[in-house]
Amino acid sequence: MKIRENVPISELTTMRLGGAARYVIDIESEDEVKKAWGFAAEKDLPVYILGGGSNIIGRDGGFEGVILVNKIKGMGIAVPEENGMIDLYANSGELLDDFVTYGTQMGFSGMESLSAIPGTVGAAPVQNVGAYGQDISQTLISVRAYDDLLEEIVDMPVYDLDLGYRHSIFNSGDGIGRYFITQITVRLERKELKPPFYNSLQKYLEDNNITDYSPESIRKAVRAVRESKLPDPEEIASSGSFFKNVYLKTPEEIEAAKGRGIPVWEGGKIPSGWLIEHAGLKGKVFHGMRVSDKASLVLINESARNYADLAAARNEIIAIVREKFGYTLEQEPMELGE
Ligand SMILES: Cc1cc2nc3c(=O)[nH]c(=O)nc-3n(C[C@H](O)[C@H](O)[C@H](O)COP(=O)(O)OP(=O)(O)OC[C@H]3O[C@@H](n4cnc5c(N)ncnc54)[C@H](O)[C@@H]3O)c2cc1C
Repeated sequence: MKIRENVPISELTTMRLGGAARYVIDIESEDEVKKAWGFAAEKDLPVYILGGGSNIIGRDGGFEGVILVNKIKGMGIAVPEENGMIDLYANSGELLDDFVTYGTQMGFSGMESLSAIPGTVGAAPVQNVGAYGQDISQTLISVRAYDDLLEEIVDMPVYDLDLGYRHSIFNSGDGIGRYFITQITVRLERKELKPPFYNSLQKYLEDNNITDYSPESIRKAVRAVRESKLPDPEEIASSGSFFKNVYLKTPEEIEAAKGRGIPVWEGGKIPSGWLIEHAGLKGKVFHGMRVSDKASLVLINESARNYADLAAARNEIIAIVREKFGYTLEQEPMELGE
């Protein structure tokens, strides 16, 4: 187990903010998860689990605890193909994009739209990652995890995970911080996909005369659409979508929004990017944080000095959108530290 001391959270997260963590341990196997938790218990320090840090924002006071950085590698076939279905597993420290590629290149569909989402396999169930009309709940069948309460490895079927929009037992209630996901298994299907696809994806396919709807062709199209809009975390500091979309609950709310010319999509969804853009904030800079001019939902850390700058920018954007439309935007990335 490699243990490092006083590591800035800014170096472990794609928003590149945050003070130092007391200890950071790279985890390469299930055995090391339990050992690392034991190390934290000996020191009487809290544990925090990190994958690629692409959905976490570090706070200025740092973290007086132990960060476990997930590096558990390996993926393969869990149950061989039968009647066009296959079960694939990936250990949680693999990149989600590598797992997506693995499945689609074998000709299986179900995860192609999750292509190029930054981060690890283990984080995917945590907020039920999704993009272009697909999310991991549609293919996930089970999760293997170290349960710190029971102090053992547990296998959890998907129906026990309460997956919803950016929601699971891992990011809510007593489940927060309790499980270290070590492996996931998905069930994919060998099939040609059918249009129409999600709006921006469909437009890309039409504009480029692409009629090959194989999972691999769609994966490449998703990548191309994302590359044209979303910042590459290697080069530009961000956490991707900074705000969750707004979901309206009642028919009255939906009618009222439509009556004001606000787009309401399936399931009562108002794209928060639309609200931000139509509040006139696209491309604007607040305290060193820029509202991306390609995707208004994305905040880019251009020159924020610290978490306090980010928080001030976030609060101003929320206030402006609330003032204009009456909806209160909610931050998507979680936060770590004091
Ligand atoms: C440019 C960009 C684009 C993005 N686009 C999308 C998108 O289209 N759709 C989308 O859903 N998200 C998107 N995101 C957000 C992010 O990629 C996902 O949330 C991703 O799943 C985070 O993976 P990670 O490994 O970086 O997790 P981290 O940020 O390290 O962790 C996220 C959360 O998961 C927990 N966690 C991580 N690993 C484990 C584990 N093994 N066991 C238990 N808990 C764990 C952490 O404690 C934390 O609470 C984007 C981010 C960026 C920067």
